[in-house]
Amino acid sequence: MKHLKFRPAGIANSKRLCQMFAFLLVFFSLTIAQTPPDSLMPVRGFCIAAPRRDNLNRFIDFMKKELAPNGINTLVLRVDYNYAYESYPNLRDEEPLSKKQVKKLVRVAQKHNIQLIPQINLLGHQSWAETIHNLLREYPQFDETPHIKMPEKYKWPNDDGLYCKSYCPLHPEVHDVVFALVDEIIKVFEAKAFHAGMDEVFYIGENNCPRCSGKDKAELFAGEVTKIRDFLAADSLELWIWGDRLLDGSTTGLGMWEASENYTFSAIDKIPNDVVICDWHYERAESTPAFFAVKGFRVIACPWNNPQVTGAQLEMMHRYRQNSNSVLQGRFLGVMQTVWSSAETFMDAYYSETVNERAAGQVNSFKTIVDYFKTGE
Ligand SMILES: [Zn+2]
Repeated sequence: MKHLKFRPAGIANSKRLCQMFAFLLVFFSLTIAQTPPDSLMPVRGFCIAAPRRDNLNRFIDFMKKELAPNGINTLVLRVDYNYAYESYPNLRDEEPLSKKQVKKLVRVAQKHNIQLIPQINLLGHQSWAETIHNLLREYPQFDETPHIKMPEKYKWPNDDGLYCKSYCPLHPEVHDVVFALVDEIIKVFEAKAFHAGMDEVFYIGENNCPRCSGKDKAELFAGEVTKIRDFLAADSLELWIWGDRLLDGSTTGLGMWEASENYTFSAIDKIPNDVVICDWHYERAESTPAFFAVKGFRVIACPWNNPQVTGAQLEMMHRYRQNSNSVLQGRFLGVMQTVWSSAETFMDAYYSETVNERAAGQVNSFKTIVDYFKTGE
């Protein structure tokens, strides 16, 4: 009886084991199919403005349903003043994200193994079109070019060469303010890296600035990068920046936007090479990641709204990783989609059939990245 009793149980157990084995096989093959190997590209990134507070839950759904299942493991959120800073409440946007709301973002990112990197634009991008942003609005004494007034109707080009205002990196009080914000944002995001922007800095070392006049622009730029890097490194955090000011726009033919024609580019030899470079190019898959890697920097290629260019950047980074020695290979970190609209506009376009061309370009570029990460081609 004991034997008889045992036998059916044994068969049942074997069946159950087989079923479990089959289930695990399917589960792991699905997992492998959905999660691209880090060896393909360790950083699979997405960069977008932080959502406004009334769109937070929608954005969290987007993280759960679109970013995480598609293998995105790095999310740079451009926060700027969209947070309820306690150190300088006067710098908050209207209706900013609360601490509790940011914590919701942090928990979802952690659960889905997404590294969350907050961004505040430092040095440049202190204004946009006719609008002066919160830092220089509240502290006009930090303005590198206080003599240049904001236009009623912005147009480019203009007589002042005004693209965006900068703060003066040598103002004795500016870092008290901006580092207080950085300190708060890295703590609330529980971040291991911080993105400082620092792209398209056109106003630097201006003749009218009593502190910067006559100083070397590359020295000034490098000094500011290093100061921010050192502030973060004291807490073992990484600094990420856009790469354009470190490229020579004239010699390379890259021009004044995605590279520097205002003499900041020799800063590349004056900054610590543990700074992570986000190398944005939107019209061609320029070979500049190789330049940064050879100079000792880890680099991420950043596309925007042209899916063909995005595809070429993915292939280029993959090829660099395949054909490099182990030292260089480790510096080609991956690719990060940049989105230059609000999170709300992007999500509207992502879920809509009929969108304007600009919004569609960003969406299709992102889909190109996702397909590549899924299939490796
Ligand atoms: Zn200055």
